[in-house]
Amino acid sequence: MNLILMGPPGAGKGTQAKRLEANHGIVQLSTGDMLRAEVASGSELGRQAKKVMETGGLVSDELIIAMLSACIERDDCRNGFILDGFPRTSRQAEALDRMLKEKGMKIDHVIELTVDDGAIVRRITGRYTCTKCGTGYHDEFQKPAKAGVCDKCGGREFTRRADDNAETVRARLKAYHDQTAPVIAHYRKKGVMESVDGMAAIDDVTLALNAAVSL
Ligand code: ADP
Ligand code: ADP
Ligand code: ZN
Repeated sequence: MNLILMGPPGAGKGTQAKRLEANHGIVQLSTGDMLRAEVASGSELGRQAKKVMETGGLVSDELIIAMLSACIERDDCRNGFILDGFPRTSRQAEALDRMLKEKGMKIDHVIELTVDDGAIVRRITGRYTCTKCGTGYHDEFQKPAKAGVCDKCGGREFTRRADDNAETVRARLKAYHDQTAPVIAHYRKKGVMESVDGMAAIDDVTLALNAAVSL
């Protein structure tokens, strides 16, 4: 089963993709995570991406399409994948259509997590992850059971993303409305777009997503 998870920054794509990964044995492919790994490694791609990500803009379609194209054929994606943060522009969506056709693959569900713009800054500024295992948390909405200790791995070090600040969020939200809204229209026109209320509590969103992909 191959899925596309869409939604604005902070909608809960990463949180839900990790749960879908665990529940359905499919692999999360997050272009944001891949780019952050490139930045951390200090590669040429990482150096280019860093400047763009800091301002909340979008990295060039060519780089992103090349990066993702290699992933969907990976061995561990045999049971399926969840695209998280891709496609984000009309060009990326068209490139994905071509890629899938060439490889004889298809997308089973495109699901948009809808979240009010007003909730986004709070979601983003409260976000942090465990440095060791990558589990996501939130200052208010998803605290670890024991303060300062990761539920999953016991780690005590946490990371906040450099671009998770109020100024950059506004630019990212604008990029979403200007450049990613047409992608939603692209899938709506094909009649494959589904919507899940991303304002609901995290566990309720998971239930709604599980129901949507089991149909
Ligand atoms: P995205 O990948 O779409 O940018 P995340 O999954 O990282 O979003 O979620 C952003 C932040 O909001 C995280 O700190 C996460 O714990 C929290 N969060 C995710 N889903 C919800 C929800 N339904 N209600 C409240 N907070 C949420
Ligand atoms: P979000 O929490 O905003 O959904 P992501 O982790 O998906 O964040 O992306 C972080 C940043 O990485 C984006 O603001 C953008 O600069 C870059 N990026 C990620 N995916 C893409 C993509 N498909 N196309 C262009 N830029 C991307
Ligand atoms: Zn951890």
